[in-house]
Amino acid sequence: MEADIARLRRMIESARRAVVFTGAGISTESGIPDFRSPGGIWTRQAPIDFGDFLASEDARRESWRRRFATDPVLRAARPNRGHVAVAQMIRAGIATAVITQNIDGLHQASGVPAAQVIELHGNTTYATCLDCAARAEIDVLRAAFEATGRAPRCERCGGLVKTATISFGQAMPAEAMARADAATRAADLFLAIGSSLVVYPAAGFPRLAARAGAALVILNREPTELDPLADLVLHREIGATLGAAVGVQ
Ligand code: NAD
Ligand code: ZN
Repeated sequence: MEADIARLRRMIESARRAVVFTGAGISTESGIPDFRSPGGIWTRQAPIDFGDFLASEDARRESWRRRFATDPVLRAARPNRGHVAVAQMIRAGIATAVITQNIDGLHQASGVPAAQVIELHGNTTYATCLDCAARAEIDVLRAAFEATGRAPRCERCGGLVKTATISFGQAMPAEAMARADAATRAADLFLAIGSSLVVYPAAGFPRLAARAGAALVILNREPTELDPLADLVLHREIGATLGAAVGVQ
């Protein structure tokens, strides 16, 4: 085993309250593209701001058109070796929580109890009404969209329905932020995995962890702005690296 991976392994083995923080990079090996890699989603299309979603039926239709277009990829995606390694750390009691920027539900699918997954940017595998918070299922919404050509509305109250994600310009989920803050402050080891660490406030958590005394590890193919703060930086592929460090296939 190479020296940096062996070091990661020792850090994981001696941790008691590790926190795993993940970004889109942990899901690329499951076939879901990230945003900022070359060829990533944002090199092709600009994100739709929450204000535009509220203000414009065209923006809502475009937002839903994109969501339905990515549906086959999301449905086919299965947890990869990186997700499995994270789930093993939770199962072994080494990690207390997974703080994720991802909206794909793959940590839950890999066996991490939902109560231990803190979703900072929500979840795209279902939708909610922006007025009454009623939940709606993507399949049902797609059928309505295809039949009417209009952005879906809430069956209960007529309000705007949106994937249960946090868009740019939308308030962060207060409870998730508070839980992430508490887990980070209590952490003895903080693993930032597969994130470019440029989206705030999410990227504030690795900073906070380092300040609060946790050992900080950054595992990402490309350098990040926070590399200088880290105790260990691995510019490696996630599945193979974490799989070897945790000892899962
Ligand atoms: P990002 O796209 O900004 O950064 C991903 C990072 O992961 C990149 O630096 C890239 O070099 C690295 N990476 C990709 N595949 C890797 C691999 N196999 N091994 C090692 N490194 C790898 O992602 P982000 O920081 O999460 O921010 C993007 C935002 O977009 C997030 O807020 C998230 O909500 C959303 N997003 C989510 C998903 C998802 O749920 N799977 C996918 C795309 C975007
Ligand atoms: Zn409603």
